[in-house]
Amino acid sequence: MVKKATIIGAGPSGLLLAHYLLRRNESYQIDLYDRLSDPRVVEFSNARTFPISLTERGMSALRGIPEMEAAVRAISLEMNGTIFHQANGRTRVTSRKKPLVTLDRTKLVILLLEQLTQQYDSSRLTVHFNHACTGINFAAKTITFQASDLATEPQIVNYEVLIGADGARSAVRSAFLNTELFEFEQKYVSTDYKSIVLSSDGVSDSQLEVGKIHSWRSQDGTFVVLLHQLDGGMSGVILFPRQNRQVVNLVTPEAVQQFFRQRFPEIGQRLSAAEAEAFLKRSTSQILTIRCSRYHQGDSVLIIGDAAHSVSASIGQGCNAALEDAALVDKLLEEFAEDWAAVMAQFTLRRRTDAHALVELGDYAFPSSPRLFLEFVLREQLARMLHRFFPNHFLPSLSELVFESTVSYSEILNSYKGWIAKVKKSSQKFLNSNRTTDSDSV
Ligand SMILES: Cc1cc2nc3c(=O)[nH]c(=O)nc-3n(C[C@H](O)[C@H](O)[C@H](O)COP(=O)(O)OP(=O)(O)OC[C@H]3O[C@@H](n4cnc5c(N)ncnc54)[C@H](O)[C@@H]3O)c2cc1C
Repeated sequence: MVKKATIIGAGPSGLLLAHYLLRRNESYQIDLYDRLSDPRVVEFSNARTFPISLTERGMSALRGIPEMEAAVRAISLEMNGTIFHQANGRTRVTSRKKPLVTLDRTKLVILLLEQLTQQYDSSRLTVHFNHACTGINFAAKTITFQASDLATEPQIVNYEVLIGADGARSAVRSAFLNTELFEFEQKYVSTDYKSIVLSSDGVSDSQLEVGKIHSWRSQDGTFVVLLHQLDGGMSGVILFPRQNRQVVNLVTPEAVQQFFRQRFPEIGQRLSAAEAEAFLKRSTSQILTIRCSRYHQGDSVLIIGDAAHSVSASIGQGCNAALEDAALVDKLLEEFAEDWAAVMAQFTLRRRTDAHALVELGDYAFPSSPRLFLEFVLREQLARMLHRFFPNHFLPSLSELVFESTVSYSEILNSYKGWIAKVKKSSQKFLNSNRTTDSDSV
């Protein structure tokens, strides 16, 4: 019997889930919807580009689809450590036992999409771009879509199984708000971000070592991370406390160049006027964290990825967790013999504790206060050394557990609860003091 599944959101989690379902057996037919245009045909926009780091968690989910890991690695670079650039020009280097695989988010999406459309024809898969989900009627099992041209009437379609993979501002999740006993928390991370792109011309003679993540952190909590890209350039983001208007108040390319030269000279020296202008044109974006009491509605609707558990970018795990969700749905389908009602309920049971722990780790594993960040680096070095020599007595460091292991997020949170509590307290103080300074200066 044909099983129809509707996936809303052609991001990493929705696309990987489509791969898993179509590979399961011939009976699946997928309709995949996204509110944006096909990323393969629109000109590659670096307006909101940012690099994604994939760890074993995300890579093992990709590995479930034959050849996918190799295809992703072919368009990625490996990073075997981080260089922390300090204001005095000195650097502090940490290395990783297992390298991170890094690539641009849009390029990952294009790859997953190309592989889908090459393998499956329209008898199994239809992708509808420029279709924004605007509402769901759970009782009637219908979805309303609005085409992006707004000229056409809203379209109402039926669903059998519906997966909301539509990101942090999920429309599918919004419909859960009208259902009984659904609890939900949404918070804005206190830092906003803007993408930075440096072309290969600027970094070809670079002293910025390839194969390392480069990061800069300043006293006011502004944080820059830049990664080399396959084309020889670098890309990354600047994250800054929302109250600090310095970055959003830059209005000319010269002011952008001057800002980076003063605050982050290694970047300022390499930022051309054209790149500074492009930086100005990019919008400032916010990051949400999301906690839900359940991820399923009845026996036929499930939310996955950022729609279910969006998390701070600072922990570099959102995409890894989103990909893991797709692999977990596949595993549960196997375990419960394609009984979607059981799969959906089990997904909530198996994922909720870890997803909540991930949000907590994202908020508090890595401190924003510079003083505590120094303590974090020292703790990391000590933990790494102790674990290396006495593995039976000392745990791996916090970042080793997050980035180099597949230990569950809830176990990590439990092992490091003292540190997390300390960062939480200090973050509150740091935010309050920034607020006071800001209101003083207005
Ligand atoms: C600056 C930054 C850096 C990051 N770095 C990392 C990292 O290093 N490692 C990591 O693991 N994660 C990282 N992340 C997080 C990662 O980008 C997300 O967790 C990941 O993209 C989530 O995938 P997703 O498929 O669940 O959702 P998304 O990637 O958000 O995709 C959702 C899709 O749904 C579509 N959509 C939205 N609303 C609708 C609607 N109403 N109707 C139809 N379609 C809709 C969107 O157009 C989009 O295509 C970072 C995030 C940011 C912002």
